[in-house]
Amino acid sequence: MAKNNSAYPDSVDRMINEFSSLPGIGRRSAERLAFHILKASKEDALALAKVIEEVKNDVGHCSICWNLADNDPCQLCSDPRRDRTRVLIVEQPRDLIALEQTGMYRGVYHVLLGRLDPLAGIGEDTLTLDGLVSRIEHPERNAGGEAIDEVILGLNPDMEGDSTALLVAEKLARTGVRVTRLARGLPAGTQIEYANPAVLADAIHDRRSLEAD
Ligand SMILES: [Zn+2]
Repeated sequence: MAKNNSAYPDSVDRMINEFSSLPGIGRRSAERLAFHILKASKEDALALAKVIEEVKNDVGHCSICWNLADNDPCQLCSDPRRDRTRVLIVEQPRDLIALEQTGMYRGVYHVLLGRLDPLAGIGEDTLTLDGLVSRIEHPERNAGGEAIDEVILGLNPDMEGDSTALLVAEKLARTGVRVTRLARGLPAGTQIEYANPAVLADAIHDRRSLEAD
């Protein structure tokens, strides 16, 4: 990051630089945020600092499903009311949250923590596929120690999502587990995290097996 030769005190300058490194925040917005913090009470400003510290100390990934969690296993994997024989595969935690908000799905998840994107140099090694195969082949590694019956592909309906879905299906073929995917109620290019909950609910309900295509 370029050093800014501004008239701000050094620490203010550093704060503006930190804010402008956040996604979607340009220099002007970063300055506005910095002035907001400067004007806020010490108590309010430190509450923000503290919550950032807490999140970085306490939140990690569930060792079963790779969702964000402050306990391991996460809340969803530890919940005996969830159907642990059914696993919905998503690209990232935000997709999981969008799907949970539909209230339609009672199974558990597996978060890949990304998707194939050869142009960005993201290959299968960066995804949590081995963990998924291991959950299927060794039921004691799945939530509640239960054997998995169905894996539902819930990747985004675009080029990278489709090639990731293909790869997952290929990897799972030898396990013999039933593989289905969300129905194509989602228009191509839709992102799950921004989709309408009713559309997502239909996509879960009307999921179909891969062989049906
Ligand atoms: Zn979990």
